Amino acid sequence: MAIDRFGRRIHYLRISLTDHCNLRCIYCMPEEITFHPTAELMQDDEILTLVRLFTGLGFDKFRLTGGEPTVRARVVELVRAISATPGVEKLSMTTNGVLLGRMAQPLKEAGLQRVNISLDTLNPQKFQRLTRWGKLEEVWAGIQAAEKAGLTPIKLNAVVVRGYNEADVADLARLTVEHAWQVRFIEMMPFGDTSEFQTSQTIHMAEIQALIEAETGPLQPIAGDGPGPRLDGEARLFRLPHAQGDIGFISSVSNPFCAFCTRARLTADGRLRLCLLREGEVDLLTPLRAGASLAELRQRVIDGIWQKPWGHGLAEGLIPLNRVMSEIGG
Ligand code: SAM
Ligand code: SF4
Repeated sequence: MAIDRFGRRIHYLRISLTDHCNLRCIYCMPEEITFHPTAELMQDDEILTLVRLFTGLGFDKFRLTGGEPTVRARVVELVRAISATPGVEKLSMTTNGVLLGRMAQPLKEAGLQRVNISLDTLNPQKFQRLTRWGKLEEVWAGIQAAEKAGLTPIKLNAVVVRGYNEADVADLARLTVEHAWQVRFIEMMPFGDTSEFQTSQTIHMAEIQALIEAETGPLQPIAGDGPGPRLDGEARLFRLPHAQGDIGFISSVSNPFCAFCTRARLTADGRLRLCLLREGEVDLLTPLRAGASLAELRQRVIDGIWQKPWGHGLAEGLIPLNRVMSEIGG
């Protein structure tokens, strides 16, 4: 079992399948970005070796992300192999949805259980401005295909960016009236070269909630075990009256959920990233390629997880500079 020095049991691994992407969202990466050459990224057999290593340490929940995971070559076969690995209980994917129109069904058949799809606005022009290259209708078709294929419950991720889509949050929230989806609003986080823009344009959860409620009336917190709204992973859950779906707020900047963190990340180039917003990483791919034994790699993971930081240092002005979001795996 992998436990950190604060007693948190870490059993959820987010694997970045590639740093490459078919969009260029303004909050994620610069338009002119150089991706890693494919040879520097984990190959299929290397990913599978590491998945087995992590299941051996009690990891049971896996999310495939990126970059854009669906642009990876042979991704359906890779999903099939990961889902068949003993110990993999939950397998999901975070995707921009552009390719889901044709890939949702094969991914489902390969063993993928559900998807989170990024959707920041329902306005086609604003969608293009936010993603630089995206077409809203492709993503919408992807959402429909995911639902039809049974990649459910569907969760939609909306990063809210001042000056771009803050006027669109109520329309997104209202999707939950008709659809049994979870629409999650995400505070923009700062990384590397893009941090100046991200820091200046971020909108905190309280303001996002107020913007929604100004149009819809009060949101109802969904009761949980503790005093606040129920937590679903990192999302605090609310509901519109008579809605079929939920609204989630992911307030990593203004109200982090570090105490409940159960996750670690594997970057596309095979580094174990202990906290999204801290630079610390443990290289697994270089020793794997150099012939390290599984016992040695396992010990590197155990030692790394033990050193997992308690939380991020944004409040103290500590911004992770060594990578942008797409390289880490959001
Ligand atoms: N390409 C896929 C997608 O867009 O869903 C998966 C990778 S993306 C890095 C994962 C999630 O991170 C997306 O929901 C995206 O909106 C979010 N994201 C990207 N940059 C972010 C930032 N600076 N702050 C908060 N969330 C961010
Ligand atoms: Fe690509 Fe996802 Fe980043 Fe947008 S958020 S640029 S789709 S990796």
